[in-house]
Amino acid sequence: EVTVMWFRRDLRLHDNAALYHALRQPYPVIPLFVFDTNILNKLSNQHDARVNFIYDTIADMHVHLKKYNSGMYIHHGTPLQAFQQLAEKYTIKNVFTNSDYEQYAYERDKIIADYVTQLGAGFHSYKDHVIFDGSEVLKDDGAPYTVFTPYSRKWKALLRSFYIKSYPIKLQSTQLVHLHNTTIPTLASLGFLPSNMAIPPQKVDEVLIRHYDAQRNFPAVQGTSRLGLHLRFGTISIRQLAAKAQQLNDTFLNELIWRDFYHAILYHFPHVRAGKSFKLIYDQIEWLNDETAFEKWCMGKTGYPIVDAGMRELNTTGFMHNRVRMIVASFLTKHLLIDWRWGEAYFAEKLLDFDFAANNGGWQWAAGSGCDAAPYFRIFNPALQTEKFDKNLQYVRKWVPELDSFDYPAPIIQHEIARKRALEVYGKVLKNK
Ligand code: FAD
Repeated sequence: EVTVMWFRRDLRLHDNAALYHALRQPYPVIPLFVFDTNILNKLSNQHDARVNFIYDTIADMHVHLKKYNSGMYIHHGTPLQAFQQLAEKYTIKNVFTNSDYEQYAYERDKIIADYVTQLGAGFHSYKDHVIFDGSEVLKDDGAPYTVFTPYSRKWKALLRSFYIKSYPIKLQSTQLVHLHNTTIPTLASLGFLPSNMAIPPQKVDEVLIRHYDAQRNFPAVQGTSRLGLHLRFGTISIRQLAAKAQQLNDTFLNELIWRDFYHAILYHFPHVRAGKSFKLIYDQIEWLNDETAFEKWCMGKTGYPIVDAGMRELNTTGFMHNRVRMIVASFLTKHLLIDWRWGEAYFAEKLLDFDFAANNGGWQWAAGSGCDAAPYFRIFNPALQTEKFDKNLQYVRKWVPELDSFDYPAPIIQHEIARKRALEVYGKVLKNK
């Protein structure tokens, strides 16, 4: 008789809500991780740095758990197969896990909850990935917020120390199923190969957070935390980070609230989870979807230095500064009139910190189709953005060293022409709405 603790985007053995609760019930716990082929088979890059990161993290957890005569129980396949395999060996009494708010996750969890319920086991899901989930921050009449500022006000009004308190976890060998002699599969057996992309350190830099509001908008400066990947996979706890943010810098706390906000949007609006525009009318826009232009954007060859710098940073490091993400996303959707979903998919493939909620939110914000987005007629001017945020071209020159040479391409389209064209195409659908 066992309890299964199923890890997904909460890859840590401290301050983990589901693990805390799993350890408080009478059955010994099996720590499970599934290398889910439904997800992995869609990845095109065998050297995917995120898979490498997950793999290394799970390997570390395995080594740690061995001290308690246990380890990670790993399955490579589908979650259902993993639970079927476990059910052959053990009587599953309970499954503990932390909630995940994406469309695939809802479907996956329903399949597993149904399966284990048939076995007579309980399926218990906890909030761990956000401070407040979609059901907690609502307007006074119970409706969801679709505008950030009032949402964040309510979020802050609701915050009590309880919500950012860590779950104390003290592992003991008696609480865990003894998985003697288990080894974990090799990365190659999962179909992946090592990556040489650097992973940002899992370090909460208090000095940086203290100066966040002054530094965060300048891509040449290392002024943001680079913790996105660690929040995405739960290698740091959002509660611990939010507690620090509350002490150190309100602007930084606001960014963490944006993260909750976009997760709440997914929770409340299934059409967004399913890939539609938040404002459905935007799905009538007649995108040009020029494949050659898209290719140039992807490769950082548009002839707009700030756009090209951003795309090259992304392609090389798996990261792009937030200010530049906004510029390149605006450029793709407004200047090139390419469906925001193309850009969303490209970011999903490349960003180390890729997260469906934040990525979709960011893209729809830039395209104008999202909740609380700028109106469609406000179009970023890349030159003015550069003037404001990279005046000395330090960032641009780092990524586009050939800027002043003949090798650098002419602009793919003139800004004024692109602006007029965007206003026309967007206006056709949106004028008078
Ligand atoms: P910091 O500035 O140090 O912020 C700390 C944390 O707050 C971030 O790691 C992130 O978890 C959260 N955060 C910050 N800004 C936002 C925001 N606007 N929305 C939601 N959460 C936020 N963020 C992702 O985590 N994953 C994505 O896939 C993603 N795609 C984006 C796509 C576009 C088009 C845009 C405009 C933004 C996107 N963002 C995404 C939001 C933001 O750009 C990144 O979170 C940030 O740049 C990550 O760098 P950092 O960790 O140094 O963030």
